[in-house]
Amino acid sequence: MTEPDVLVIGAGAAGIAAARAVQAAGRSVLVLEARGRVGGRAVTDHRLGLPFDLGAAWLHNAEDNPLVPLAREIGLTLADSDALRQERTLVGDRPANAAELAAYDEAWDRFQHAVAARIAAGGPDVSVAEAVPRGGAWDATVAAWQGDIIAAAPLDRVSLADFAATALDGRNLVVEAGIGTLLARLAEGLPIRLSAPVERLAWGGDRAVAEGGFGTIRARAVIATLPSSLLAAGTLRFDPPLPAELLQAARDLPLGQVAKVAFRGAAALGLPDFSSIDCQVAPGEALVAMNARPFGRDLLACHVGGDAAAALEAEGDAALEAFMRAEVARRFGHRAAQALAPDPIVTTWQRDPMARGVYSYARPGRASARGILAQPLAGGRLCLAGEACHARLAGTVGGAWQSGMVAAETALAALR
Ligand SMILES: Cc1cc2nc3c(=O)[nH]c(=O)nc-3n(C[C@H](O)[C@H](O)[C@H](O)COP(=O)(O)OP(=O)(O)OC[C@H]3O[C@@H](n4cnc5c(N)ncnc54)[C@H](O)[C@@H]3O)c2cc1C
Repeated sequence: MTEPDVLVIGAGAAGIAAARAVQAAGRSVLVLEARGRVGGRAVTDHRLGLPFDLGAAWLHNAEDNPLVPLAREIGLTLADSDALRQERTLVGDRPANAAELAAYDEAWDRFQHAVAARIAAGGPDVSVAEAVPRGGAWDATVAAWQGDIIAAAPLDRVSLADFAATALDGRNLVVEAGIGTLLARLAEGLPIRLSAPVERLAWGGDRAVAEGGFGTIRARAVIATLPSSLLAAGTLRFDPPLPAELLQAARDLPLGQVAKVAFRGAAALGLPDFSSIDCQVAPGEALVAMNARPFGRDLLACHVGGDAAAALEAEGDAALEAFMRAEVARRFGHRAAQALAPDPIVTTWQRDPMARGVYSYARPGRASARGILAQPLAGGRLCLAGEACHARLAGTVGGAWQSGMVAAETALAALR
């Protein structure tokens, strides 16, 4: 097909959702995907002989996540991560005692209240770090969770207004077969051309023209789902260039960093299924969040985020693996660390040229950037979509999916 009604650039969650919606409306669609696979930042790896999500792993906000009913429809098993989770918090190498756990809970509550109070008070947007408590025994640990692990960036770089608007609530579900598997299933049957990076998009005329190694494709409307990091870097040449305000919005929504290392050999840790293990950290110390034995599998996944993730990933896979093994040794002893199998999976999202990071956060004062990025261009014949465009569910697969649906509606209306 050389002239579809709608051309979709990118076969991640937003692109797959958009393509399905265009098809369902009876219009022709073609998806061009730069990678040799679908799913984008949601991909399930099987190198360890069991499914492991390199990117998205939880279906957040389950009650209004469009992927939850879709997963059920195609018969995938979902589990309630919140109900099954077995939490363990350590102080050094010992479990936190009851008084420490109570203090930890209070620190979480104080954090939430401080965010809500500052938002309610109004005034100019500030960084999250400026609004929340610090100095208490557990404040740095809560800040590391909320910043490095959840927002994927330190809280002094994150807009409070955007952080509050995009806060996750509701239940968190996990997909037994993996979220990447879910997306791949939802992409089945769509006209997707893989290994087809779009290098130039001319969108000024009555037909948009996409060019790359695949040749030239004309379309009446285009939905471009590149991560904001790539829009800001100009990896796809838009002709005419994207409006300055929109480019600035992409720059104001950088992608944070998270690195994961997944080991087999978790049995030696003696942990129950669906374990979640964290540890008190001091200000500036990297927090490693660990998940063990999901669905009873012999798996330990270790996550680090923010600047520590960026620095370790830049050092290389061996450095990340050594860092995580040392953390396992500190928490569970050297024998447990040695029992972890060699050749773990180490993620490389920062180095990935089609992502350059994990998901977007807004810079302080720039919470409005998501709305700007989502503004249709050329009367709806060019729409940007993706997680960064969603004002409420940014940073999630559910948000990316919904953003793709909205863009498809806009593009379809422009065809009428
Ligand atoms: C480590 C990590 C953990 C995460 N954890 C969670 C989680 O637990 N829950 C959750 O909901 N979300 C999570 N996310 C976020 C979630 O994965 C993303 O928000 C979502 O997948 C983004 O979808 P998207 O369609 O917006 O972008 P992408 O998935 O990035 O899709 C964009 C696609 O465009 C392609 N592309 C780029 N440039 C071009 C070009 N020039 N031509 C053609 N194609 C191009 C890319 O290859 C890519 O496939 C996580 C992400 C990571 C990386």
